[in-house]
Amino acid sequence: MNIKKESLFKFFHICIFLNLSSSAFLLAQRNITSEDTQIPIENNILSLSPVNSKNVTTYTNKSDAYLKKYQQQSFYIPTKNDRVITLKITVHVFKPMGDTGRWQMNDNNFNGLPALKYMLDSITNGNQERFSWKRNASYKVEGFNPVFISDSKINYEITNIYFYSNKDLYLINNDEALFNYIFKTDSTRIDEGMPLVFNGSPGPGHLSSYKGSAAVVTTLQAFDIVFSRSHLLHEIGHAFGLGHTYANALGAGSEWQNFNGACGSIDYLSDVFPNNNPACNADRSAPTNPPCMSCCEIIPDTSNNIMSGARYNRWISPLQMGRRIRTMHLDANNGHNLRQFAKDIESDHKNAWVINTNELWDFDIQMYNDIIVKPGVTLTITGKVAMAIDGKIKLEKGAKLIVDNGEITGWCKSGNWIGIETPMVKKKKNKKTTAVLIKVINGGTINKSKIQMPIDTN
Ligand SMILES: [Zn+2]
Repeated sequence: MNIKKESLFKFFHICIFLNLSSSAFLLAQRNITSEDTQIPIENNILSLSPVNSKNVTTYTNKSDAYLKKYQQQSFYIPTKNDRVITLKITVHVFKPMGDTGRWQMNDNNFNGLPALKYMLDSITNGNQERFSWKRNASYKVEGFNPVFISDSKINYEITNIYFYSNKDLYLINNDEALFNYIFKTDSTRIDEGMPLVFNGSPGPGHLSSYKGSAAVVTTLQAFDIVFSRSHLLHEIGHAFGLGHTYANALGAGSEWQNFNGACGSIDYLSDVFPNNNPACNADRSAPTNPPCMSCCEIIPDTSNNIMSGARYNRWISPLQMGRRIRTMHLDANNGHNLRQFAKDIESDHKNAWVINTNELWDFDIQMYNDIIVKPGVTLTITGKVAMAIDGKIKLEKGAKLIVDNGEITGWCKSGNWIGIETPMVKKKKNKKTTAVLIKVINGGTINKSKIQMPIDTN
């Protein structure tokens, strides 16, 4: 421990604690032209294997319910009444020793905090990260007209901005060194929100990973708010498991080459890549995607998709929205777990997930809604179900819940879930009693619930 402390104090570090939600400020908006200018496509570095995986129990993920329903990004396409899920993001800025570089602590400087906050404001709290623009593409394919949804039901919230003055780390292109320094400074900062780390390294911005969780490490070389926000939306998109809609020279980070979304896979974005696209011809360097005969977007055939390389990239397709929401439910993101950074939320009681037929849940899911099991239906849990604050599982008449070596628990830090509601049944002489419809067997557990439940353990 002493060694850690010593190395910590070798560096002079300053931490500025900002509460972004409480302070409003004004900064004259720069004129932004509406043309959809192309920017050079970044050369992404991706580490798709976990750096330091947490102890994760492996779940079967083989049930029909998983394969045909809960694994499908289409299942999560948001509807009007859905609850907004918030991803917490914590910003870590590495700086040189003096007040130079980006970002500076002197508010009067061009690169000072107001500029940083202004930029972050545009992609948080229900702004560009949440609301999609309509699709706009430079090419047309007959019959291809994806549904437009404006509200993706995901937003981002900045928890804090921390500054670290360190001339070596300011320029280093080594994520692990940056994360380790943050962790040594205050280990709780790593779990506070998805780390969004800025320094002045000439390396490209990229998806990263620390202790099995997603993170983004980037530099912004010039203050250009349009570029900055498009770039950050794109990089955070990677953390949700979204790949590029274009293919770059090294193939790194593209949707079907690196994010398992090729034609025929469950993650294929049929609402981004038109099938039988006449633009996919032999003259192009874009790989085609048989048998769909779709291709990635390469200049001049591009769209304003959020994962394109263009400025003003603000179109999110319904399936991409579904994938973002799925990422907040399932831990299935190649070592880039993101759902642990979900903001605590009260379970949605109005829009419960309704189970109409017998289902086996052999997977690990984080819930934001109540669950209703319809009459006569059995829900069997061999995986893990984590409920939101005051969440309920309601069993209707004759419905059954079996926790077979599985677990039902709560995931929010600030409150537990309620428990399982079972129907009252009439007994002789009109006496009502609670039916025992919950079975917990083979080492199954029910944790963090607020109420006692009638449980059969045989
Ligand atoms: Zn990228």
